[in-house]
Amino acid sequence: MISISSVSLPPETEELVLSVLRSGMLAQGPRVAELEEAFARLCGVPHAVAVNNGTTALVASLQALGLGPGDEVITTPFSFVATLNAILEAGATVRFADIRDDFTVDPDAVRALVTDRTRAVVPVHLYGLPADMAALEALGLPIVEDAAQAVGARFGERAAGSFGLGCFSLYGTKNITSGEGGMVTTTDDALADRLRLLRNQGMRRRYEYELPGHNYRMTDLQAAVALPQMARLEEINARRASNAGKLTAGLSGVPGLVVPAEVPGRTHVWHQYTVRVTAEARLDRDTLAVRLAQAGIGTGVYYPRLMHDYPCYQGHPLIPDTGDTPMARDAAKEALSLPVHPGVSDSDVDRIVETVTGLLAQ
Ligand SMILES: *Cc1c(COP(=O)(O)O)cnc(C)c1O
Repeated sequence: MISISSVSLPPETEELVLSVLRSGMLAQGPRVAELEEAFARLCGVPHAVAVNNGTTALVASLQALGLGPGDEVITTPFSFVATLNAILEAGATVRFADIRDDFTVDPDAVRALVTDRTRAVVPVHLYGLPADMAALEALGLPIVEDAAQAVGARFGERAAGSFGLGCFSLYGTKNITSGEGGMVTTTDDALADRLRLLRNQGMRRRYEYELPGHNYRMTDLQAAVALPQMARLEEINARRASNAGKLTAGLSGVPGLVVPAEVPGRTHVWHQYTVRVTAEARLDRDTLAVRLAQAGIGTGVYYPRLMHDYPCYQGHPLIPDTGDTPMARDAAKEALSLPVHPGVSDSDVDRIVETVTGLLAQ
């Protein structure tokens, strides 16, 4: 079976984790500080604040901006549900803008939703492809980047995570993992200071509380798992890019299949390699997924429905209007991710290409 995701830790990880265990300093300490430095360097920003997951990275970022009831946040409806849950937890009203055919939010659709209550835009660098950050930046709104899937991605010369508050996830399936973990990057000194307070009960000095905060801290054990991967990030993402290039070369022109866009000037980090299985294909998306599984090829549907398209969000007071987002609806029907992770070998790629081509040949 070629699985849709796989965790591969560099051999030096064990020694580093052991050293933390032996140090007796298991909670947030020097390894977390090292990981923060590595993220700040990667993003070319002065501040990185480690938190316990990607969802709390988003919540803390929205709270650091001072968001609250009555404020509006514009995002895409086509993402992992954490993007939506974080905005709801911050207490803001959510507006959904449609996407482009590269699966990222359409800045023109965002602009059409801006009102005098809009306080932030949350673009998602879905599958590892940065959204159109130049056009989004031109809107002049605070930006909270959901870069959970985009560690190492770039828009032009700038890193994903350097356009406002950059929110990363270190969950087990992400390009770099600590099991659970998150990071916020920013150039803004005041926001970084607020994030550090929010993560630690609002505490500046011992038992001196400046605001009602949380416990969003990462542990040194988690940081020790992620650090060796951070040191090899280029190698890890290059392997994904190489697999993606071979998949695209092999799958271009297959009837009914649309290979993922590579947008000039944007560096995709291929968290997922996602094709569209269109109405013209010989098999529908879900049937193709079943047939691939029977052939020993794992796939993923990210995501089968729009974030708000579940009964628990219907009539939610912070989602007064889901809007009409036909591009996003089509994406949820057509998207199918194929294995692209560094554990996928050249012969695996050949097998994926041959099997998909065979199943869809007319
Ligand atoms: C993984 C992910 C998150 C949430 O990160 P966690 O670490 O799982 O909390 C948020 N947004 C997107 C797009 C993600 O893929």
